[in-house]
Amino acid sequence: MTDRPTSTLFTGGRLLDPRTGLDATADVLIRDGRIAAIETGSGRIDAGDAERIDVDGLLVCPGLIDPHVHLREPGQGAKETIETGTRAAVSGGFTTVCCMPNTAPTLDTPDMVDWVAMKTKETASCRVLVAAAATLGRKGEALAPMHAMHAAGAAAFTDDGDGIADADLMRKVMQICASLGTVFMQHCQEPTLTRGAQMHEGAMSVKLGLVGWPRVAEELMLERDLRLDRSIGARYHAQHLSSGGSVEILKAAREDGVPATGEVSPHHLLLTDAACEGFNTNAKMNPPLREESDRRALLQGVADGVITVLATDHAPHTTAEKSRPFEEAPLGVIGVETALPLYAEALVDSGAVDWPRLIAMMTIEPARLLDLEHDGIGSLTIGGPGDITVIDPKFEWTIDADTFESKARNCPFNGRKVRGRAMLTMVAGSSRCNRLSEIDAPIGV
Ligand SMILES: [Zn+2]
Repeated sequence: MTDRPTSTLFTGGRLLDPRTGLDATADVLIRDGRIAAIETGSGRIDAGDAERIDVDGLLVCPGLIDPHVHLREPGQGAKETIETGTRAAVSGGFTTVCCMPNTAPTLDTPDMVDWVAMKTKETASCRVLVAAAATLGRKGEALAPMHAMHAAGAAAFTDDGDGIADADLMRKVMQICASLGTVFMQHCQEPTLTRGAQMHEGAMSVKLGLVGWPRVAEELMLERDLRLDRSIGARYHAQHLSSGGSVEILKAAREDGVPATGEVSPHHLLLTDAACEGFNTNAKMNPPLREESDRRALLQGVADGVITVLATDHAPHTTAEKSRPFEEAPLGVIGVETALPLYAEALVDSGAVDWPRLIAMMTIEPARLLDLEHDGIGSLTIGGPGDITVIDPKFEWTIDADTFESKARNCPFNGRKVRGRAMLTMVAGSSRCNRLSEIDAPIGV
């Protein structure tokens, strides 16, 4: 993030600012890396020698934020790096991502938090936040130095990849998070119920002869955590919800005033365990794809405002790893380059939410989760950072994993025809990805 920002005037676009609710045709001026002016109507800003970009017919939004990505550094650079993962994120319209600590070594010391910050400065295309491990080595046995990592800049805590099974340790982690005011993000998976599990426990796992991962393993940990949190009041965030029952549990806790939020990923909104047919390793993930009733309950959870955050759980693996037999292939799918049109399909096309709400769940909601709102991240605020994503909601294209910026190709949506794309992504006033010229000649139309 070292190139010099220039002045840019976006004219004629439909501005969506989820913080103020602004949804109007307006111009926006970016100068010296920050938002310098916003005026509704057109032609009212004296932009001097700024570059003018006509975005008539397009959405102008705060840069998108993904609170759940795996950038695989340090230690797993064959899968992804901070450089390639953030290039992929920018291509998908994201200007801020939060990386998970299940790297090698684990992000469980202040030095590791510093290391990611250093690597981000040297190689990243967008902002990178760190969700640090709450327990040493993510083993769920002993506390990691949470206060020191918070002081080093960790934005959140999680043992993602695993849930914290020990209830006493979980309570301590929540108490520390409450004292720091930092969010704890749980990967809800009761491990004694998922030993050797390969996919959702149901008719398809029986058909394929694979060990099942039952819904109750997610629901049990979520329910336990929310029960613990009733007397603690820590900010608690349930990652990648997959079960319809989890939506009910989260809903009840939120109604009772527990400060809990939940996220969902594109694959759980669009796919079911039927995608595992034929031992398709690109449909192998954790938590697993479930059944149509779960998929519908998750959509309803978003429509009802129970689930308020969208995340990709971008989980890159090498093609060689994903080419192994299903039982041996690693868990996860990539997501940052395809999330926007997939969410549009799942949520806007279905009528669950409209575009302004979709954008809010990808900007201001994750910004609040990660304490970024006061910096102006996640909104269009004068003086705030010039992080802008310009979206063509009508742009039709075909997902082609071979064109991805990510190192990985493990995408279950490869070949799918989709609509909606980030046409320009600007980070701190610098354009990082610009495909506006493709609008006149859309790919795949
Ligand atoms: Zn996880």
